[in-house]
Amino acid sequence: MPIRAENKARYPRGWARISFRIRFVRAAGRCECTGQCRTHTGRCAAVHGSAHPVTKSPVVLTTAHLDRTPENCDDTNLLAMCQRCHLAYDAPEHAANASHTRAEARAAGCEPLFALDFFNPEGL
Ligand SMILES: [Zn+2]
Ligand SMILES: [Zn+2]
Repeated sequence: MPIRAENKARYPRGWARISFRIRFVRAAGRCECTGQCRTHTGRCAAVHGSAHPVTKSPVVLTTAHLDRTPENCDDTNLLAMCQRCHLAYDAPEHAANASHTRAEARAAGCEPLFALDFFNPEGL
């Protein structure tokens, strides 16, 4: 997930290193989501750089803040997520800002309708 400009200052120094450690050391390049995104049960099988098992798009692992607070970079608050899981996890927040959601969904290579409509079928 691209970091929005208005939130950039909220990420700590060293965020790139923290995020890398979570994604490629702790998670070993595999999505750590075990259903937090509410779209599946069990652990997501997406692996960074491989075709996503559901979308077939190349997987780009991101690091999600489970409490959606960028300042909270405790390991227990961070989860390596493929773009599909991350978009679904953040979808309720994104629904409040649909234009960002569409741009981010496109940038992440996901079907925009999934991110927009799964939690908000009325398109509101
Ligand atoms: Zn995933
Ligand atoms: Zn997931």
